[in-house]
Amino acid sequence: MSLEADILKSLNDRFRFKKTKGDWLQEGICPDCKKPELFCSAKDPKIVRCGRQERCGWEDSVRNLFPDLFENWSKRFPATDANPNAAADAYLSHERGFDLQHLRGAYTQETYAEGNQSAATVRFPIGPTYWERIIDRPGRFGKKAHFQRGGKPGGHCWMPPRRSIEDYAQADSIWICEGIFNAIALDQGAGLLAVSAMSCNYWPEHFLDQVKEALRTLKRATRPELVFAFDPGGAGVKWARKFVDRAHVEGWQATAAQVRPDGEGTTLDWNDLLLRHQQWKDDPEFAPLGPAKIEEYLWNGAVTIAKTPREKAKLIYERTKLASFDFRHGNRLWWCRVTYDEDQTRNLLVDEIANCAFRMLYRERDEVADETNYFLQVDFPDQPTVKARFTAAACSNSAEFKKRMMAFAGMWSGTGDQLDRLIRNQTRKLKVVEPIPFTGYSAPHRAWLFGDFAVREGRVERINTENYFDFGKQAVKLRSPEKLLDIHYDADQIKFDWVDDIWTAFGPKGLITLSFFVMSFFAVQIRERNKSLGFLELTGPPGSGKSTLIEFCWKLAGRAGYEGFDPNKGTTAFIARSFLKVSNLPVGLMESGRDEEKRSGNRQFDPNELLILYGGRSPRGLGQKSGGYETTEPPFLGSIYLMQNERIDAHPAVLERLMSMAIDKSRWSETTRDAAIRLEQWPIEDVSGTIVHVVRSEAKFLPFFFDRFTHHDREMPKRVPGLVNSRPIKTHSQLAAAVEALPRLFPTIRPEWTAETLQMVDAMALDRQNSCGGDHPLVSRFWEQVDYLLDRERTDDHASGKSLNQHRDPNLIAIRLVDYEARCRNAGLQPPEMDKLRKLLRGSKSRKFVATKPVNNPVEHVVHCWVFDNPQKPENIL
Ligand SMILES: [Zn+2]
Repeated sequence: MSLEADILKSLNDRFRFKKTKGDWLQEGICPDCKKPELFCSAKDPKIVRCGRQERCGWEDSVRNLFPDLFENWSKRFPATDANPNAAADAYLSHERGFDLQHLRGAYTQETYAEGNQSAATVRFPIGPTYWERIIDRPGRFGKKAHFQRGGKPGGHCWMPPRRSIEDYAQADSIWICEGIFNAIALDQGAGLLAVSAMSCNYWPEHFLDQVKEALRTLKRATRPELVFAFDPGGAGVKWARKFVDRAHVEGWQATAAQVRPDGEGTTLDWNDLLLRHQQWKDDPEFAPLGPAKIEEYLWNGAVTIAKTPREKAKLIYERTKLASFDFRHGNRLWWCRVTYDEDQTRNLLVDEIANCAFRMLYRERDEVADETNYFLQVDFPDQPTVKARFTAAACSNSAEFKKRMMAFAGMWSGTGDQLDRLIRNQTRKLKVVEPIPFTGYSAPHRAWLFGDFAVREGRVERINTENYFDFGKQAVKLRSPEKLLDIHYDADQIKFDWVDDIWTAFGPKGLITLSFFVMSFFAVQIRERNKSLGFLELTGPPGSGKSTLIEFCWKLAGRAGYEGFDPNKGTTAFIARSFLKVSNLPVGLMESGRDEEKRSGNRQFDPNELLILYGGRSPRGLGQKSGGYETTEPPFLGSIYLMQNERIDAHPAVLERLMSMAIDKSRWSETTRDAAIRLEQWPIEDVSGTIVHVVRSEAKFLPFFFDRFTHHDREMPKRVPGLVNSRPIKTHSQLAAAVEALPRLFPTIRPEWTAETLQMVDAMALDRQNSCGGDHPLVSRFWEQVDYLLDRERTDDHASGKSLNQHRDPNLIAIRLVDYEARCRNAGLQPPEMDKLRKLLRGSKSRKFVATKPVNNPVEHVVHCWVFDNPQKPENIL
């Protein structure tokens, strides 16, 4: 498909334009106001905008909306013998919006290499050297554009090829831009005589010499005016002021032009305006590069370079005719009031109202806590800029505002009315940013927030310079400055060679843990559809490798040296916070020294409480204490894994929801050991991008996952004899679906690996069904050993009182624990810890506990025993 066709398809997919009228696509759904008022050009579209200019005003460039389509020009437009500049041509016309007719011969397509990466560039000669812009995935390189190494472009200006130096000498004014693309934009869009000085801090001496030379040849007595039309932002403004002064000194008339006064409040440059200009629908006079706008940019420039507050006030008054107004000059704030004498002479009274200048960046609104804060950028004449949070209260009261400003050595000396005016003007159309209390997935924004960047609809979005994620009307930031994950992601560099080592070291259990992590990255979406997500239980003695496996899986998500936390060592509040600070990430509970509970004085964590987290209900319910004033119960948005030496004991309802596996050394060998060591030593920077890789595949992963889940949920009971309990079937079907999805994420996973892993998942489901509702593992081991010992007895042992079972009644069983312990040792069995066992035996279920009491044994001796029911067909025992 051609690029234009791809763009139109993407536009229609995203915005669902309902009709085409003339050259325009119309009635697309606005992502901001949701009204069907979006339009864009049907031919070579570059800008999409909302028709509700005043009330909504949303617009974006096609380049921004679909960056993937603009990433690799030489792949889409390969160079040919007939056109060696094919990619450069496409870049300049499609991305930059230039008319190539007027540029032919001014550039060439070249190749730039750095390390083992290379890319096509578009190269422009400038003076004795050249400048080039990388056009294939420039994000891979340190800089998007550069000069020839060692080249000296300073003082030279780049001119569009259709202009000669005589044209400039005859002009009324010459616009001097920073970059080539901006000069072309003003040349082609506004018909101005524009050049590029290649940087805002190169004084164009050689170019001006050429102009003077041409003026002499042409015998023109006056000189053109120089207009320094640098980019928005501090540097452009600073150098424009300096160069206007220098031009005056060197005998030129000079001024500046800016898209906004003082270079503030916009990031659009002349090239961005050209794209908007080309797709303008209304009065051409007011098009972005139309005559009225050019005049406005010149006024902005004049205001920007005004020498004194009074001069600036005069310019503003002449254009606005306001009776009073605020303005900034020299990074201070001023107030101008217009008065008239008796003889109607006009006076401008100018006063300083702050020794600094502030600008509201955004409003932070927390609906849940009903809290509003404003973020202000405060610039000073003589000290570094600060960005700070001001409460709504501080912004609405002059005295409070003064106090808060003092925290940064700023002095506000204006009145309440003046503050109200400033705040009112600045809060108009101010961005609202919602603070998110957790790291990970925010469902309302359909985005994973990972600190410095976010993933949304498969795309990676960087945090902006004001430290929030701008998703159009929605804007979010992480509330906590704590950086949970440290992720390095590069789509081109990412490798999955660790998958081999996971398999070698852990086999199917490795892939199961990996699958569980992958599911966790989609926990919210899975729970939304399946209503629940199973818990993973990893057991094994210290040194079995379960920590290695879990720590490695966390590295895939950018968290180093982390296994989980011990809920018995934290306060209730700490535990609730640990559950609530992540979303679409696992939460790990691990056991360390269970029996130290009494010393720490903390309430013992009861695994039965996990039940409420299974369906995503609020963990606030976990701690009995919630302060009483909270009105909301934030839901649990993560997944849970448990890691202990032995399986946990809990209500059958909790056990049913576990997916359990024991990590042991059954596969252990030199090879597995080496693989495990490699996993331990794997640098986190090399693998932490994996989570980004996984969640970017959301659109492919989820449909496949849900499809395979439905399949397994139906088929698992048919293929596993005896498996009937729907709960283990459901959780293990989720796991099986995730296992099957792995090769789509990590292509080196072999079919035989997944086949073996799926078999293991089936076995886990059956084991889980059979073990829940049974006894505590220690109790079931006790009964296993008792049965073993009884089986070894001679048939007449019971009658002669020599049996372990001292009861006469066959429906009861009576055991002396000291005898049991001794017989175990004689038989070479390791009895459980007797103190623990004594506590647990009273809860025995397979043989129900009756009492500890004296029993009259078969040979008429009275012995003190533990007595249990002895049903003739014992229930299933673990
Ligand atoms: Zn709109």
